[in-house]
Amino acid sequence: MAEKSLTPLFNLNDHKREPKFTNGFYQKDIISVTQFSHDDLEYIFSRTDEMLEMSRQWGTCGLLKDYTLACVFYEPSTRTSSSFIAAMERLGGKVIPITEGIQYSSVSKGETLIDTIFTLEQYCDVIVLRHPDIGSSALAAKYAHVPIINAGDGAGEHPTQALLDLYTIKRELGKVDGLKVAMVGDLRYGRTVHSLTKLLSQYDVSLRFVSPDTLRLPLDLMNNLIDNGINVRETNKVADVIQNADVLYVTRIQKERFNDLAQYEEVKNFFEITPELMEEAKEKMIVMHPLPRVGEIHYKVDRDPRAAYFRQVQNGMYIRMALLASVLGQA
Ligand code: ASP
Repeated sequence: MAEKSLTPLFNLNDHKREPKFTNGFYQKDIISVTQFSHDDLEYIFSRTDEMLEMSRQWGTCGLLKDYTLACVFYEPSTRTSSSFIAAMERLGGKVIPITEGIQYSSVSKGETLIDTIFTLEQYCDVIVLRHPDIGSSALAAKYAHVPIINAGDGAGEHPTQALLDLYTIKRELGKVDGLKVAMVGDLRYGRTVHSLTKLLSQYDVSLRFVSPDTLRLPLDLMNNLIDNGINVRETNKVADVIQNADVLYVTRIQKERFNDLAQYEEVKNFFEITPELMEEAKEKMIVMHPLPRVGEIHYKVDRDPRAAYFRQVQNGMYIRMALLASVLGQA
């Protein structure tokens, strides 16, 4: 047998994996928007601006080249999962995607969420988790030894979506204070609405809620807004809010959250944003949607420059780049 060489493979003194920044986000979980102060938001948004510029000028960089993300999705996702993957890859990092294929993983054999987390954290530095149960990310974070980022916990919260929504409002309209934001659709189960209203309550905004009676904003959220001195009103007609809204935040009626499908059938065609309706809106306003849409916004509205929902999608990647880099100590 040939003689074996014992020359070390790696010069481990060459390169150390150390945090460059140990600011408020380093190694922290991101579970709820209530964790973010006004200053935190400004910080993340300025890092997001840098991510946007870098992506446009360079495409990719090596900021997270020494790090691995596990993306664990127990519920369907297009934008959230792919934008986290794109974010990690643009920063030079690696991804373990357990998304569409979760039915082929040990979850289908009955493995608990915590065992899945205990396993995946052996391979990665941060975990992005979407799960149908409210509180699942907080539970995972309690046990995990790597940061957990909540990518949607049932009808609970979707903090990274709310951050990208707020960033989009600022980028499109140049400010948040003084705006009238109308939220339309499934306000009861819509986790993006829950997170965004909590974030907006830190600003001087007026909020208008448009939904069928059965899908009104949960009372605890409404009471929080009122306690924070936010001007709020509820209605069941888009026509009542369209003329004054600076932001029309449209959401899908979420079939999967209804126990009684007959109730879903009653409200599924509750409203549609059409070019005719847009004629009544301000010249400088934006239409947003966390997507997917299932008939709430007519395709013809896409050509209207005020339709911001696909620009919103792109902002999602930059926000998630800023968040990943921050929890890993590189931003
Ligand atoms: N994509 C968003 C979410 O995951 C909105 C939706 O599904 O309607 O909550």
